[in-house]
Amino acid sequence: MKHLLGIDELSAADIERYLDRAQFYADGLADESWDRKTLVGKIVLILFFEPSTRTLTSFDFAAKRLGAHVVNWNPETSSLSKGESFMDTIRTFNAMEPDAIIIRHSEYGAPKFVAGRVNCPVINGGDSWREHPTQALLDALAMRQTFGALKGLNVSIIGDIAHSRVAASNIVLLTKMGANVRVIAPDMLMPEKMPAQGVEKFSDLEAGLKDANVVMTIRPQKERMDHVLIDDTAYFRDYGLTYDKLEWASKDAIVMDPGPFLRNVQIAEDLADDKGRFVYDTQVANGIPTRMAVLDMLINGKA
Ligand code: ASP
Repeated sequence: MKHLLGIDELSAADIERYLDRAQFYADGLADESWDRKTLVGKIVLILFFEPSTRTLTSFDFAAKRLGAHVVNWNPETSSLSKGESFMDTIRTFNAMEPDAIIIRHSEYGAPKFVAGRVNCPVINGGDSWREHPTQALLDALAMRQTFGALKGLNVSIIGDIAHSRVAASNIVLLTKMGANVRVIAPDMLMPEKMPAQGVEKFSDLEAGLKDANVVMTIRPQKERMDHVLIDDTAYFRDYGLTYDKLEWASKDAIVMDPGPFLRNVQIAEDLADDKGRFVYDTQVANGIPTRMAVLDMLINGKA
């Protein structure tokens, strides 16, 4: 049984296969030619224990575009509130025989724990600060669509590297694929240990943006900080992206953000509205073919 628990467990060839399949579905969606019956008769169970706008909705779209039914479970109205253990909740769902489970959880390694206890593929929709594999895949797809390849690309990631699972999964994916990754953050948002080797660290935005083809902004994840010491105004002054600061990057640089993005904290209002430069909408749109690829490959045993 194959799962998608993190980018860390994938080889470069696995990542390439997911991206090729995602592009196949992106093309199919564009010309309305995809096979809408790929997952007919399957039931996908979504278990999100943390808030989500993009990921949950786009998994729902992806499953439905392929003909699957989706059951979206809400932990707040569940028996967990009656004291049922997480393990027994998972045992209960497994007895219903879903065809795939997508889980988001604040606990480190929760998707792996579930994968060890169920008879269907498990997909990590984001766990703790650790991994958000489908976000990294859809980001990579956008980079590949823009620049043709990931190898040799200069990617600068600005912001909360310490607490962001998106930063972590992107760092792991991009280094595996031969991109040059730089992270730019104030000390308090820089992790002691990087999730991959060979990442260059910067505290100065100008130095970190030099020659960047991709500039990715990452929201200060205040909900994960014990003490919030980030002042939004000071953050915007030193690390917020504006047209002026973007001049330090390569001329062709695109700006990305996994969302939710904070205007005039991470990114200036006018730049946020420039869809040619800030490719957030492309990232969101790519979420659907990417998750179609993941569901198809795992449920139909093609991974
Ligand atoms: N939506 C992403 C996540 O779930 C990024 C974020 O919240 O900043 O990790």
